[in-house]
Amino acid sequence: MPELPEVENYRRFFAERAVGRIVLRVVVTDPTTVRNASARAFARALAGRTFLRADRHGKWMLARTDGPTLLVHFGMTGDLIWSGDEPPRHRHDRVIFELEGGDELRYRNMRRLGGVWLAHDAGEERTVLGDLGPDALTVGRREFLGHLARRRGGAKAVLMDQRFAAGVGNLIADEVLWQARIHPKRSVASLDAADRARLFGVLRKVLTTAVEEFDYLQSRPAWLSHVRGQPGARCPRCRAPLARVTAAGRTTYLCPRCQPPPG
Ligand SMILES: [Zn+2]
Repeated sequence: MPELPEVENYRRFFAERAVGRIVLRVVVTDPTTVRNASARAFARALAGRTFLRADRHGKWMLARTDGPTLLVHFGMTGDLIWSGDEPPRHRHDRVIFELEGGDELRYRNMRRLGGVWLAHDAGEERTVLGDLGPDALTVGRREFLGHLARRRGGAKAVLMDQRFAAGVGNLIADEVLWQARIHPKRSVASLDAADRARLFGVLRKVLTTAVEEFDYLQSRPAWLSHVRGQPGARCPRCRAPLARVTAAGRTTYLCPRCQPPPG
């Protein structure tokens, strides 16, 4: 499931391949993928435009053009495909950008979560993105701690609240809390200054590492994510059997020894 690290890699991929290119034609094979315009209006608004830049905020990619901004959300199964890497179109390629020079960039999504939106100005962009907090990868220490000080509730629920910090999903939240040795249900109000500083440091480190190592789930055996969800999985740090609970409404893995439950 694409979380912030995956979306940052899609953004880089998009910037490398599509930025600077002119859109000749947009083919929408599944009109439900276009969320705030008709397929026809969407295609017309982007035809002839040049992709100027790719930004990211949380799990959103924002492709700037010399016209409207294209907002992309990858849902659970979204991906970007470059025709040079994979020539034939696939039945789950729901939006296809035909670029000048003959290449195609395709938005592929097996399931119908996520999609593409258009924003013609900053107001429309805010409407689509909703009330997002600072990006979880780039939020500064002072801002993070300031937001945290105003929060109540369980640590996992706070981390996953996109209004708190945008981009943290279920997997990253479990990894960060495990590395920071904080129980997912522990109230953030009970965290002392050292816990808070550690939480920020770990969040930054986990996200930075995961962005740079796209296969971090395989390449980091010392991480919780490496074994998370496997039958009989043990804590990579202390070898205690992992526990599975529901926190923030999501399936959550933790080490009962490294992350003691709230007293
Ligand atoms: Zn442990």
